[in-house]
Amino acid sequence: MVQVDPLEEGEQPRFATQAENNPDGTFHQNMYRMAPERVPAMHLNLPFILDDLETETSQKQLSTARNIIRSVNQSFLPPLDRATHVEFLLNPLDEGLSGGFVALDASRPWLLYWCINALSILGEDVGAYNARVVSSLKPLQHPNGGFGGGNGQAPHVAAAYASILTLATTSYHVSRGLPENERLEVYAESFAWIDRGKLLQWIRKIKLPNGGFKVNEGGEEDVRAGYCALVVLALLGYDEEELRGDPSLGELPLLSGVAEYFKNCQTWEGGIGAKPNAEAHGGYAFCVLAALCLLSGPEEALSKNLDLNRLISWLSARQYAPEGGFSGRTNKLVDGCYSTWVGGCWSLVEAAANAIECGKGSTKVNVGDLWSRKALIRYILTCCQGPHGGLRDKPGIRPDYYHSNYVLLGLSAAQHYYYYDDSHAQSSVSAKSPFRHAYRWKSSKNVPKPSGDDGTGGGWLEGLVPDESDRVGVQHPLFNIPLGAEGQLQSWWEWFNDVSDVDAVSREN
Ligand SMILES: [Zn+2]
Repeated sequence: MVQVDPLEEGEQPRFATQAENNPDGTFHQNMYRMAPERVPAMHLNLPFILDDLETETSQKQLSTARNIIRSVNQSFLPPLDRATHVEFLLNPLDEGLSGGFVALDASRPWLLYWCINALSILGEDVGAYNARVVSSLKPLQHPNGGFGGGNGQAPHVAAAYASILTLATTSYHVSRGLPENERLEVYAESFAWIDRGKLLQWIRKIKLPNGGFKVNEGGEEDVRAGYCALVVLALLGYDEEELRGDPSLGELPLLSGVAEYFKNCQTWEGGIGAKPNAEAHGGYAFCVLAALCLLSGPEEALSKNLDLNRLISWLSARQYAPEGGFSGRTNKLVDGCYSTWVGGCWSLVEAAANAIECGKGSTKVNVGDLWSRKALIRYILTCCQGPHGGLRDKPGIRPDYYHSNYVLLGLSAAQHYYYYDDSHAQSSVSAKSPFRHAYRWKSSKNVPKPSGDDGTGGGWLEGLVPDESDRVGVQHPLFNIPLGAEGQLQSWWEWFNDVSDVDAVSREN
């Protein structure tokens, strides 16, 4: 941690000089632009109420808050240092990882996903990596179905999730702008080798009668497993019949009891835990909200299954002042990766709250913005950019590939408004998919401000992205891959499954 002198009682925070703005080095020097408005006082001062009980946690909280006050300059905001982050993220792909990463041998698909998706958010074309991604992931497919985290390892649902997301991202990039026949070929090379039948059988082994899922056979049960399983099922184009299974063989329908299980994970605080009766946590909250929105539109998904008011209260308590970033749990410090886990929840909650108005084209009533996007953007740009590239938890902590992806995903959530649009629901290519609701998400650069029944208010939030060169790419708010990649993949599966059915019929004849 960067050491800072404590403020004396009554002392006002001193505003940092340019060099102090980045305590780790000289990275941002001479690169500041004027912020469009001054920073609100609550982000420049310690909170009015501080914890009287001094513990290790309360000390860390205070020193983090003080440290961040000193990192925030009232008049300037550092730009997103895109080129340096790109270099940081390309390095493991082009040069390989150092020996120390052997400890992450069971996380191969994750390392690929974090780097490739983060590069994609930064606007890099990652299509050139598609063939290498396919050849890296093929050996991870287990002979009995599913994906291991490393070669020869037992299947794990998170490994399957990260593998499919990576393939969806690179194949989307490489096929953009290609004629249809070549696009179909790219998707065939990227996905036709996956044994969907065996993968489905493997997912049946981790499905639980209580509606939840385990991460692997004999592994732990939690909502992360349920979310990852549903994403894999949604992106691999399974139909209703395949998900239902064969009751005469004792197969449980894969979607049975799922929403009820997730519903039972909401805690007394209003947040969501790993499983029923567990502590509320930002990561698990995102998994549950996104998984519920895979099964229905956001308004129905969230208001029918969760106490939305209590959820909003808990989510609001995750964003701290002065820091501006999110914590993952009550009494924990801010951390850049919760920009996605909590910021991503806000995208879905806002879409649910505004669903009727924004989803169907009316602008009559909007709840507007329920969280401080500007404060999160400030936290990310001032505190989460590493001096030599990459993004991080907080100042004083080294950047890594995981935080790079989830800080940038959170930045995308803060810069864009996501909404659910079912106006073309019946005519869309995915109308028959059991996860059809997931294919109806759109994004807008305009974030609505609240408006009243009488038409007062409204308009758009200004100054979220002071310079367009700082804008990052849009991501699908449930899958965390480039928005649009999900639709391309789904339309390919529909084509591929039709062709496979025709082939099967002609073989029978
Ligand atoms: Zn983190």
